Amino acid sequence: MHGFPIFIDLESAVPIVVGGGALSATKVRLLLKRARQVDVFAERLEPALTALVRERGLAVHDRVPTRADIQSRPLVISASRDDATDRGVSDLARALGVPVNVPDRPELSTFALGALVDRGTVTVAIGTDGAAPMLATRLRAELEQQLHPRLGALADVARSYRDEVAQRTAPGAPRRAFWDSVLGGPAVAAILAGDEARGRAEIDTLLDAATPARPCTGRVLLVGAGPGDPELLTLKAVRALKSADVILHDHLAGEGVLDYARREAEIIPVGKAKGRHSKTQAEINALILAHAREGKTVVRLKGGDPFVFGRGGEEVDILRASGIEVEVIAGITAATAAAASLQIPLTHRDLSRSVTFVSGHAAGDGAAEFDQVDFRALARGRATLAVYMGLATAGALATHLLEAGWSPATPVIAVARASHASERRVATTLDVLSAAPERLALDGPVLLLVGEVAGLAPHGPVTRIPREAALAHGELIDA
Ligand code: SAH
Repeated sequence: MHGFPIFIDLESAVPIVVGGGALSATKVRLLLKRARQVDVFAERLEPALTALVRERGLAVHDRVPTRADIQSRPLVISASRDDATDRGVSDLARALGVPVNVPDRPELSTFALGALVDRGTVTVAIGTDGAAPMLATRLRAELEQQLHPRLGALADVARSYRDEVAQRTAPGAPRRAFWDSVLGGPAVAAILAGDEARGRAEIDTLLDAATPARPCTGRVLLVGAGPGDPELLTLKAVRALKSADVILHDHLAGEGVLDYARREAEIIPVGKAKGRHSKTQAEINALILAHAREGKTVVRLKGGDPFVFGRGGEEVDILRASGIEVEVIAGITAATAAAASLQIPLTHRDLSRSVTFVSGHAAGDGAAEFDQVDFRALARGRATLAVYMGLATAGALATHLLEAGWSPATPVIAVARASHASERRVATTLDVLSAAPERLALDGPVLLLVGEVAGLAPHGPVTRIPREAALAHGELIDA
């Protein structure tokens, strides 16, 4: 017989051992290493078997098994040592196609039992096709020495990871590489030494390392809050506010707008009012990242549009570099909000062919950023300037524009808190602004519109600084 080693399931059906002697007892004991039950067929049981039967609660039939007994068994071992019985059982089993073994009778057997090294879940079977049983015995002794007694525990731990590993590693080479790293690593020694907890921790670490970086579940929405009137929020902005777990907002994006937040949302003011930085940009960035990494939906709410003098670009860069999903929701910027409120257009076929958004913010060294803009070129065309953060430097800007060739009579209109109920407007000209900037007398966020369009009749109340009077007398006259 050229035997082919296979592993037969002895759990879903019960194997049979025929015979009540010591040899049968050995075979029953062997099968019980894997089988939950063994049915014994014997008229008489010797003491060794009696004890085993009692101990394991095995069924004993005091007769020779019939065809019906043998049918659909995973295997039969006939060790009665009675030739007629063994031959009869073998014939029946073979006729039914049930694997049968009669010890030391290869001609009556369809399978042989190998020499076993049993480590629980791990089994080594040695077969010599009956040629050299002693060689098998020696090999078994060698393997018994070499194979760690807790090898089965190692296999059991590996089995408990199968599903998770299947989920978290790609099949094929990556998965093999993972198991290689486990079996070649410190987890093995720990489990074999009986410290399963440490072994599992080692495997968890390797599994984390082998798992492709899971996309961070948190996400950030950079949301334009518009100029302040909640009705100027976009539908997308409202949806974002309603979905947010955390909202970090500027002082410009406040009150009515935040009413759209969920009641459970954590609302963090990170307001940057001029000269009163409650948080640095770096601190704000760190806050956004920390919350997103906790898997939260973070709304970074900015006045106007996030990408107009809002440092939104920097925040997007950092989030993208950190692999965090980011969405930008446009908002109505102060210039368009102010223009809409005044009902004067930013561009006009006859009066202005371009609009430039500039910042009047004084840079760290005291110089205003508008130094960077080529106002001389703009003066040659018909242009509108929308000046953000320009209240404090308005006089300097006006002087600068006059020097750059802008007409002294160029209309200027300053709008404070555009779109708010408390919106205020002051109209003047560049020369007045240059000579008497304090006349603007506004507070809150102020946007300046400079250019011929600012001279179009604005809608609603405007405080005018009449040019001649202001220049001559320094008087402010309300219209
Ligand atoms: N991202 C904002 C601008 C931020 S810079 C936007 O797109 O509007 C802050 C400046 O914006 C303020 O100094 C002011 O010049 C302008 N601003 C913002 N809201 C305003 C409002 N409601 N009315 C007038 N100016 C406003």
